[in-house]
Amino acid sequence: MADSATAKKKKAAATPKPKKERKPTAADRKAEAVGKAPTGFCFCGCGTKIESKTAYFVRGHDRRALGEVVDRLYGGVPGMLLKVGGYKVAANGRVTAPAEAAAFTKGHAKSSK
Ligand SMILES: [Zn+2]
Repeated sequence: MADSATAKKKKAAATPKPKKERKPTAADRKAEAVGKAPTGFCFCGCGTKIESKTAYFVRGHDRRALGEVVDRLYGGVPGMLLKVGGYKVAANGRVTAPAEAAAFTKGHAKSSK
């Protein structure tokens, strides 16, 4: 019995397990989607160095950069929603969101009865 167990242990040690590929992290997926990994500098362009290996922005600078781009390209959030977000304004003025945004709008919509 003891010999069998020892033999199994020896066999296991002799054949090393193939190295598992590291499971992609959320940071990996983000870098792939962005097309560039974090560089160590804030992506807003402020020039601030970032210690984190996974962060693109100093806290809050992503929102600031996003707002700047939205303002420059669409004149603000309403323009962006209408031009590229799939939002529509009906004749009565009511704005409807695209079906893809339904989960978002249902979560916070107030009753307008
Ligand atoms: Zn910044």
